[in-house]
Amino acid sequence: MKLTVLGCYGPYPKASGACSGYLLQDEETKILIDCGNGVFSKLLNHCNDLSKLDAIFISHMHPDHMSDLMVMRYAIKIKQMFGRLEKPIPIYLPANPSEEYERIQYEGAFVRNIIHEGTEVNVNTIRVTFKKTDHPLECYAMAFEKDRKKFVYSGDTKYFDGFVDFVKGSNLLLCEANVLHKHMNENVPHLSGRQAAEIAVKADVQKMVLTHFLPEIAVADVVEEAKEVFPHILQPAEEGKCYFI
Ligand SMILES: [Zn+2]
Ligand SMILES: [Zn+2]
Repeated sequence: MKLTVLGCYGPYPKASGACSGYLLQDEETKILIDCGNGVFSKLLNHCNDLSKLDAIFISHMHPDHMSDLMVMRYAIKIKQMFGRLEKPIPIYLPANPSEEYERIQYEGAFVRNIIHEGTEVNVNTIRVTFKKTDHPLECYAMAFEKDRKKFVYSGDTKYFDGFVDFVKGSNLLLCEANVLHKHMNENVPHLSGRQAAEIAVKADVQKMVLTHFLPEIAVADVVEEAKEVFPHILQPAEEGKCYFI
């Protein structure tokens, strides 16, 4: 599987950047994971033909993870009118907040599927499972597995018991690291670089990519504090860059 970073900032981007969005693909499958602001135009650089997009997974309904769905739905509908897209695109997302869940639909652009912790989805040969995280909105981490390879995306979360088990044995963990550890307090609904690295060590992860960067903090500082804890391959997410699983 190949992961392309489309956007890696949150909860707002830096200049010319985009918020959360990732394209996961293999020879036969293309999956969009999260669709924050700026992601749709970046997606078109890698998947201009939307009929090739098999599914969209949304971790939660904060705008930095879903706001470009509001324009992507117009593209889907208009491409259908021009005969360039036959079917609606399947999307998997939490049902809450219900106003947001209702708002994303537009003239049948999407086929909506609600995710829960026990949900299991197969997109061609890729199996997807979910773990509810600790975040102000209902949010899910996601595991994508194929041929004994495992890729986990954290979504947004605080540190919580049970996350390590879900991440266990990943070949690649794409983990949010929104702040430095010195900024942490109980009101921060995110992980620090150090916490992300602690999860990766406990879960015996092979490689880690950090993401969901706050534009006010230097990415190098987040990576440095994580590297002090995680002794294996660790990289920051970079827009346009590919990572292999
Ligand atoms: Zn976020
Ligand atoms: Zn969030």
